[in-house]
Amino acid sequence: MANLIDGKALAAKIRNEIAKDVEALKARNINPGLAVVLVGNDPASSLYVSSKKKACAKAGIESFSYELPASASEKELLDLIGKLNSNGKIHGILVQLPLPDHMDESRIINAISPEKDVDGFHPVSVGRLVLGEPGFRSCTPAGIMELIDSTEIDIKGKRAVIVGRSNIVGKPLAFMLLERHATVTICHSKTADLKGEVRNADILIAAIGRARFIGGDWIKPGAMVIDVGINRLDDGRIVGDVDFDSAKDVAGAITPVPKGVGPMTITMLLKNTVLSAQRS
Ligand code: NDP
Repeated sequence: MANLIDGKALAAKIRNEIAKDVEALKARNINPGLAVVLVGNDPASSLYVSSKKKACAKAGIESFSYELPASASEKELLDLIGKLNSNGKIHGILVQLPLPDHMDESRIINAISPEKDVDGFHPVSVGRLVLGEPGFRSCTPAGIMELIDSTEIDIKGKRAVIVGRSNIVGKPLAFMLLERHATVTICHSKTADLKGEVRNADILIAAIGRARFIGGDWIKPGAMVIDVGINRLDDGRIVGDVDFDSAKDVAGAITPVPKGVGPMTITMLLKNTVLSAQRS
């Protein structure tokens, strides 16, 4: 039976440390502030935004909410971002994605000041990651690195296989693992022998978006399995991209879904906001 990598417990521990950092900043009259921008009323996005605001409040970070209707123009959003960029009370700007179809996501992300890009999606942040320079790292992959490190495994020289090549998970994670000297393979929907690639993994990260897609028989015995997937079944249950029940008997360590990667993503957002306030 694999060791369970408890994302909820790790997130709670890191959030305590963040709350202490916030206190120290407040003692210097710096109040870390995060602007949370929501366009439209997509229920999932509203839920994400409200959990981010709650997490801020718990850590002592002030959150500023900006809600625009789905009919808002791209210019309105760009004007708002311009104001937030120059507002000294705001150290981080988060624009909840996805945006309505009439808005160009990359134009919006590019408008956020790289110094307030706590989501780590701006091309400058991505460039800094690729070059190994200090900067904001995107939250889900940064949280995954914390989860891996919590197991005290030595990443150096390990074969890491990432299934999924999105800009928010697979690609940035590949550079983070490479920086730590893993040998990294990125797989996707056109990978010729996915099962064969997965079978090589000492560290497997599944970020696909397909319920229980990777079975226990794909996994190398003793491997570490990080399951990023969040998939809702017809009966309402949330499951990952890995078939937990069969994988847990083969893997050496595994994250559950929920309570694995999910709680770490918001934690890293708080961490980036504090980092930005510390730099200000
Ligand atoms: P995307 O849809 O952007 O990317 C999915 C990736 O999976 C793509 O690269 C795609 O390949 C690949 N893929 C799809 N089907 C297959 C297949 N049959 N075989 C191999 N590869 C395949 O998803 P995200 O990266 O945004 O998210 C992935 C999952 O992680 C989702 O379930 C999402 O909800 C979850 N997630 C969880 C977060 C958390 O905080 N826990 C945060 C972010 C995401 P191709 O590029 O070829 O199309």
